[in-house]
Amino acid sequence: DLLVVGSANADLVIGVERRPGAGETVLGSDLAVHPGGKGANQAVAAARLGARTVLLARVGDDANGRLLLDSQRAAGVDTVGVLVGGAPTGVALITVDPSGDNSIVVSPGANGKLFPVDVQAAGCLFQAARVVSVQLEIPLETVVEVVRSLADGSRFVLNPSPPRPLPAEVLAACDPLIVNEHEAKVILGDACVSERPEDWARILLAKGPRSVVVTLGAEGALVASKDGVTRVPSVKVDAVDTTGAGDAFTAALAWKLGAGLSLAEAAAYAARVGAVAVTKKGAQDSFPTADEVAAL
Ligand code: ADP
Repeated sequence: DLLVVGSANADLVIGVERRPGAGETVLGSDLAVHPGGKGANQAVAAARLGARTVLLARVGDDANGRLLLDSQRAAGVDTVGVLVGGAPTGVALITVDPSGDNSIVVSPGANGKLFPVDVQAAGCLFQAARVVSVQLEIPLETVVEVVRSLADGSRFVLNPSPPRPLPAEVLAACDPLIVNEHEAKVILGDACVSERPEDWARILLAKGPRSVVVTLGAEGALVASKDGVTRVPSVKVDAVDTTGAGDAFTAALAWKLGAGLSLAEAAAYAARVGAVAVTKKGAQDSFPTADEVAAL
């Protein structure tokens, strides 16, 4: 099984002619509410591809929490690990102007209350997980507890988003650490002395992960391990909306690693999944089935 530990948010989106400044009120479009959050997105992406997927997350006892549970179940995710209550469901308040520029306020809500004890209480989910995939929209102590809860032989995949410096214990467990350009630069900090993604991959690898993947949008990705650095070609598509591409990529990679593919093979498949995801609008709405990936 694939176990995703992470965030679940309701994305509340309003289109505006112009994003409001301080003290200003503007009128906007009708409200659109979409299920989101990196954990929820990854779980839906994996399940839609056909992966047996369990989500460990926390939502509020409210309408947004029910929306998230419904979207997980509709995609085929096992929601036994979705805890309810403790704070309102996490929310992202998003205004988008006609040029596509946005302003976003995130209220972590229940995501901030997914605590190490919740990880400890979910021990049986860890025993059954071949791969555990995590991001950083939950407390860092919880991520550390995930690392300590990994079953023998199970693999830890981390997308450090939003990026922040990571403890050595977490870095050392990553196999792989998956970063985009922005995340690579934040994790590298002062060590980012080059503009070449190959160099970022090498320097990141030297910080302790067993392997590293750098995603490069339309340029594809790079994989790095003790065997060296390899380019993963991108698939040429007409991109419509790149929201969620990284989540779809990570979910696909994690699933295929659990199925026994090599890192380079799994990344090549994940690049195809990411490519399909950018041809459609939205995050979870854009995630493909295995048939759609095969048809690309
Ligand atoms: P993030 O969404 O985290 O910033 P990326 O934009 O790097 O991540 O996208 C993740 C992966 O999705 C890329 O490595 C690539 O394989 C695929 N992808 C993203 N954008 C495109 C695109 N415009 N064309 C083809 N593939 C893409």
